[in-house]
Amino acid sequence: MNSNEQFKSICTEASRAFRPWHKAEAEHLSLAYQEQRLPHALIFVGPQYVEKTHFAREFAQFLLCTSPVDGVACSKCKSCQLCMAGSHPDWLNIEPEEPRKVLRVDTIRQVQARLQQTAQQGGNKVCVISPAEQMNENAANALLKILEEPPANTYFLLVAHHASKILPTIISRCQRLSFAIPPRQEIINWLSDDFANDKIQQALEKGRGFPGRVYELLNGGIDAQSDESLLASFFAGQETAQSVAKNIDSAQLPDFLDSFLRLISHSLKSGQDGTVAAANNSVLSQLSACELYQIYDCVAAAKVALAQNANPRLLLESLLLQCFAIYSKFNS
Ligand SMILES: [Zn+2]
Repeated sequence: MNSNEQFKSICTEASRAFRPWHKAEAEHLSLAYQEQRLPHALIFVGPQYVEKTHFAREFAQFLLCTSPVDGVACSKCKSCQLCMAGSHPDWLNIEPEEPRKVLRVDTIRQVQARLQQTAQQGGNKVCVISPAEQMNENAANALLKILEEPPANTYFLLVAHHASKILPTIISRCQRLSFAIPPRQEIINWLSDDFANDKIQQALEKGRGFPGRVYELLNGGIDAQSDESLLASFFAGQETAQSVAKNIDSAQLPDFLDSFLRLISHSLKSGQDGTVAAANNSVLSQLSACELYQIYDCVAAAKVALAQNANPRLLLESLLLQCFAIYSKFNS
C-alpha cells in the first residue's frame, strides 16, 4: 500500500470553520494549547453524524497554523493552505479505506515511522484517527505504545462513536471530550444561508436532528425515507427486515424506535376517536387495538433491550420480524 492510499487526503471544504455548536469546545482546547497545557492525545466521543471528525480536522488545522487568530486557524498561512489542499506533510489523517474496514497494525506502524521524522513545516505534527474503534487489537496496541512515549510536538486526535469499543488503556491516555446532538435552531442557523427553510425542516425531520445527516440529505447524498414511510414499506412487504435495519444507523435506532411508538399511538388514536391522524395512511391503521398494543409492547421491550446494550442491527431485525408476524396473523 503506498502512502497516498494510506494517508488519505483530507476532505477539504471551501470555507473551513468550526461548526457553530462546537464553539465552546474549540475555545476550551485552543486556550489550553495557548497556555501550554493541551495533552498530546485527545479523544472526541459522541454519536455518529454530530460532526466530530469535522471538529477534529478543524482543530488539527489550528494546531498546524503558524498564525492563528482568536483561537482558530487563519486560513491564509502556508500551513493552512497546505491543510486546505489536503497535502500538509505533518498531518496524518487515518481512516479506513472503506467505511466498515478495520484499521490494521501496518497503518499504525507507518504513522509511527512518519512521526519520528522532524516536522517538515517546522511546527507541530498532528494525527487524526477516525473512527478510532475500527483499529483492530494489534493496531490499538501499537498506538498505545506510541501514546506511552509520544514524539515531541505531536498531537493525536482520536474520534470515536463508541468509546466502549476502544482499549481502556488508550482512553486513559487521552483527554476525553463528549459531543452531543446540537439544538435544532443551531443547525437551522448553520444551514440557513445555503438552503430554504422548508427544505431544512424536512431534512431535520428525516435526519432525526443529526447535523451531518441533515447536511447530506440537503445535498442529496442519501436516499432516505422517513421512518413512517420506511415502516409502511416494510409492512406492505416492499422492504425486508434486513433492508430496513441496513437503513437505520445504530446511533439513530433509539429515535427510530420512538418514531415507531408514535406511529402506533397515532394509529390507536385514529381507531379510537375516528379522527384523521397524521399517520392514518399507515398500513398499521387497519389493525385492531389488540394487535397494535401487542406491537407496541414489542417495540417498548426492544427499547429496554437496546439500553442494555443489545446488538442494534440484530435487535431491529428480530423486532421487525416479531411485529410482522403479529401483522400478518391479523391479515391472514
Ligand atoms: Zn494559518
